[in-house]
Amino acid sequence: MNLTKQNKQSDSRLNDIVSKIKKMGYSLTPQRLEIIKIVAESKSHPSATDVYGKLKESYPMISLNTVYKNLSMLSSIHEVKEIRTLQNSVHYDGDISAHGHAICEKCGKIIDVKIGEFDFAGFFETKIKEKLTENYYINSYGLEFYGLCGSCYNNKF
Ligand SMILES: [Zn+2]
Ligand SMILES: [Zn+2]
Repeated sequence: MNLTKQNKQSDSRLNDIVSKIKKMGYSLTPQRLEIIKIVAESKSHPSATDVYGKLKESYPMISLNTVYKNLSMLSSIHEVKEIRTLQNSVHYDGDISAHGHAICEKCGKIIDVKIGEFDFAGFFETKIKEKLTENYYINSYGLEFYGLCGSCYNNKF
């Protein structure tokens, strides 16, 4: 993928999130816009502390709590995904397309698992829902694998 295409993709991602936020009646402060930009453009699944670190360059007065609040708002409207590592730290993904994550239990690295067009929500509706003991309606889902990344695996022995 070339850089121009990548920029275009994160631009439209940014526009999608901004228009959803406006539609849902949330205000769009410059800090909030910057947080959205950082998460929409990032491929590295940052934690709130990572986002805070980047944000402080342009907004030195911002608090970590503000960053948390904004990220959980974005997560509540399903525009970012929360990923939990085994160390129980929360990371954020601005890429809400269908993909899973392979998480390293040792260094905490999060690697995207491209699952293509497989419709997990549809799979749930048709194959899994009938096995539930009560009604359930999906808003979002996660697909997480836990193990070791290549370099942690090779340094194990
Ligand atoms: Zn690792
Ligand atoms: Zn991801």
